[in-house]
Amino acid sequence: MAGAVWTIWGNLPGRAELFPALALIGCVLLHTELSRPVEQLRERFAGTPHISLDTVWTFAAVLLLHPALAALVITISFLYRWLRGRPAPLFRRVFSAAATVLSGYAAAAALALLTTVPFASAARDVAEFGGIVVAGLVFLVVNTALMTVAVYFGTPHERVRDALAGPEEYGLEAATIGLGVLLAWALADWPVALLLVVGITLALHRNVLIRQLRRQARSDAKTGLLNVAAWRAAATGELVRAKRAGRTTSVLMLDLDRFKLVNDRHGHLVGDRCLLAVADTLRTEVRAGDLTGRFGGEEFVVLLPGTAPVHAHAIAERIRGHIAAQTGGLPEPITVSIGLASAPPAATADVDALLEAADSALYEAKHAGRNRTAGHQLAG
Ligand code: GH3
Ligand code: MG
Ligand code: MG
Repeated sequence: MAGAVWTIWGNLPGRAELFPALALIGCVLLHTELSRPVEQLRERFAGTPHISLDTVWTFAAVLLLHPALAALVITISFLYRWLRGRPAPLFRRVFSAAATVLSGYAAAAALALLTTVPFASAARDVAEFGGIVVAGLVFLVVNTALMTVAVYFGTPHERVRDALAGPEEYGLEAATIGLGVLLAWALADWPVALLLVVGITLALHRNVLIRQLRRQARSDAKTGLLNVAAWRAAATGELVRAKRAGRTTSVLMLDLDRFKLVNDRHGHLVGDRCLLAVADTLRTEVRAGDLTGRFGGEEFVVLLPGTAPVHAHAIAERIRGHIAAQTGGLPEPITVSIGLASAPPAATADVDALLEAADSALYEAKHAGRNRTAGHQLAG
């Protein structure tokens, strides 16, 4: 920040940069205010990562302004959103702002190398466009790398894969960079067209909310796994697909052992922590294509598409072993019993039949002494 002020002091921006700078700051304030109702609704269903569309203004600033002035616009944008939003840890916002400023500097370096600076006097041809696309990619990659490192070290138990956002988030980020280019173009050649960009950004913001709510409706609030309805719907589709492909599908049903005693001894909040620990183990131990859901209170289900009983049994035992060995933050070791059921492609069993079979296998595992896996195969 001090560096930015010093550089601005050294090279006071010309009048030509003053208008876009003020226009962009105006956009930031206007967008923050107009998107507040949606933001407040989104925060009410919180727990989802905040997806910022501020890159629209940020990237336009990088294209149009001296990097230090762009850094100032970025800082104002973060500060204003922080002031107007729900109180959140300031250090996170400061880190995000610093990461964005650094990404902006990296993109500005790419622009200086590949395009005519300033943007306003650049030719509107394919070569310039190519340079801007590369600068956009540099911005995306540097920002993603910095934020991934922050998420990874902020929550040390996650794997790098979990710290990375999904393809949809990157798509959205790329879209906002694209809008930033259009905004810069508008400001340079046809300033009133910036109203279009503000409107499009607001519409995009609403769509982000809808996507997040849809995801929320599919997940179980306590563990973040799929809820029963979403799991059943997805499992039905997977089972049909596996049968068509001539592959066996397996289901695991897990139930915590003597969990009532854990609650009685340590209280329900500690019990909830145990449920979360089991959910985390499931999340890390299954493959990306497997479906993990919370079936009921302390029962979980995992659908393993294309997995034969012998492999499903090995997976179940691995999960069981990991849960039993887990001690971090838990008052006592937790164990689970697992019921396994498999349907070969020729079986007529639907998801409910698979669940019933897994449930009766689970019953067997409990009766045989708990902390073990028992299995069933449905005949073809
Ligand atoms: P078993 O080995 O036979 O499964 O014994 P159990 O005590 O686990 O079985 P039971 O079904 O009798 O008890 C399940 C307990 O799970 C009862 C309830 O207190 C607890 N439970 C269910 N849902 C939750 C939850 O969301 N949070 C917490 N903390 N406990 C829950
Ligand atoms: Mg139970
Ligand atoms: Mg139980």
